[in-house]
Amino acid sequence: MKTLENVAAYRHFIDGEEQPSAGGRTFDVRNPANGTLVARVAEGGAGEVERAVDAARRAFADGRWSRLPVRERCRILSAFAQEIERALPSLSTLESTCTGRPLREMRAQLSRLPEFYRYFAAIARTAEDSVTPFEGPYLNYVRRVPLGVVGQITPWNHPLLILTKKLAPALAAGNTVVVKPSEYTPLTTLALARIALDAGMPPGVFNVVTGFGSEAGRALSSHPGLAKLDLTGGTETGRVVAQAAGANLVRVNCELGGKAPVIVLPDADLEQAAGGAIFAAFIASGQTCIAGARILVHESQAEEFAERMIARAEALRLGDPLLPSTQLGPLVSERQLQRTEHYVAVGMQEGAQIACGGKRATAPELRDGYFFEPTIFTGVRSPMRIAQEEIFGPVTCVLSYRNVDEAVRIANDIPFGLGASIWTSDAAKGMKLAERLECGIVWINDHHRIDPALPWGGMKGSGMGRECGIEGYREYTQTKSVVVNLDEPVDWYATTDVVRLS
Ligand code: NDP
Repeated sequence: MKTLENVAAYRHFIDGEEQPSAGGRTFDVRNPANGTLVARVAEGGAGEVERAVDAARRAFADGRWSRLPVRERCRILSAFAQEIERALPSLSTLESTCTGRPLREMRAQLSRLPEFYRYFAAIARTAEDSVTPFEGPYLNYVRRVPLGVVGQITPWNHPLLILTKKLAPALAAGNTVVVKPSEYTPLTTLALARIALDAGMPPGVFNVVTGFGSEAGRALSSHPGLAKLDLTGGTETGRVVAQAAGANLVRVNCELGGKAPVIVLPDADLEQAAGGAIFAAFIASGQTCIAGARILVHESQAEEFAERMIARAEALRLGDPLLPSTQLGPLVSERQLQRTEHYVAVGMQEGAQIACGGKRATAPELRDGYFFEPTIFTGVRSPMRIAQEEIFGPVTCVLSYRNVDEAVRIANDIPFGLGASIWTSDAAKGMKLAERLECGIVWINDHHRIDPALPWGGMKGSGMGRECGIEGYREYTQTKSVVVNLDEPVDWYATTDVVRLS
């Protein structure tokens, strides 16, 4: 990082070095809480992606990472985890400054990062290859080997956490990586690449190209030199990226949009469930793929429940994300703010009622940021667009149901299937209901909880593939079978015997 006219300047991180863009192109990163310029960042395109993929290809091919004894790779990943732990205060502040998310949220989220590197290092260190049954005098052992160069494209809402869910298993398995972070939040990804190098990761193993999706992202997703492309982003981006990678027969993992139902069963503690619904809906100002965007409440309790939610939503403190008292920060960009406003207008046209919020924050100290009041719609029916489409802002809908079958039907009546939560005082009832939901993750009496061991991914339009857990690790490996003949080889053309080949 250098300073240009008192503005921090960041460049790509390729082959262990900061590198400018050809022609010196840059773009600005601004603080969404007040619009101030945070940094100027190199704007990459096909040329920079080519350089980064080439560096990653060389690093993979010469075995400086992929063929390092697994014990040594894990030692470096542990050192990386330790260095991240040391850097947490500065990473959290930078993440908060670029995303607009309250510092308290970023501290809580980023404090989990080292665990992911340690968890996947432990999986790599303890992974056991297998020997399959194979007819005849043969030994067939099956090894799991890395894929090669992996492209990873990440969004702005949880920049480091989402990157870590991809990067930790990719590196632990011995792959080399090229990351294209979101144009809004590239700084912490660049900082992480520097930390990795300082922790002993060889140059070329972890490369970062900054820039826009339409150029750098497109160049990465359509690069024929990749072994895998892993995206977290919107569902439309997923379709485009998967087609581009598929044309090169590059395997694809996509973690895409969502619109999580929060089902409050009649036996739930309503006050706890209301707290849970507010947490589900408004953390990160609703800019999460598992935001509780559809709150399903029994018709006999819907009005009372909405009142409890409104009281809590109106008490949320909007403000400067870096202040410890702030509970809700701004949206990440003017674009997200306009999108949220647009959907609020759509909801009103559709006949839903705004029970609270519904507009930009008006306090003078919030004027220069992208702040929107936490908004609750009541009188919402499932086919309405506000109940079907991903808003990605602090807006949630309360829907009522008559019985559990109807709750299940409404919960599943969306094109997404990522997360859901169930609130009940009867865990067995919750588990039975969880079986009926079409989504990858269901929480009972909680929401938003993650762990490195939790397989993460969606059904339907929420994506394909899984991150995290042993499954996530395996998705960054491929099998290689070695078949050893333990007997004299058959001389096929020297005999007329019928010998079984398979
Ligand atoms: P986008 O889909 O707009 O962008 C995601 C990434 O893809 C960014 O780095 C973006 O670049 C890049 N990109 C955009 N267009 C292309 C393209 N044509 N080719 C290659 N890359 C491209 O998503 P957002 O950043 O707005 O993030 C929000 C979305 O992510 C929501 O839909 C949310 O649900 C989803 N998400 C899913 C999660 C999950 O685990 N399933 C978790 C978190 C978010 P740039 O923006 O820099 O131009």
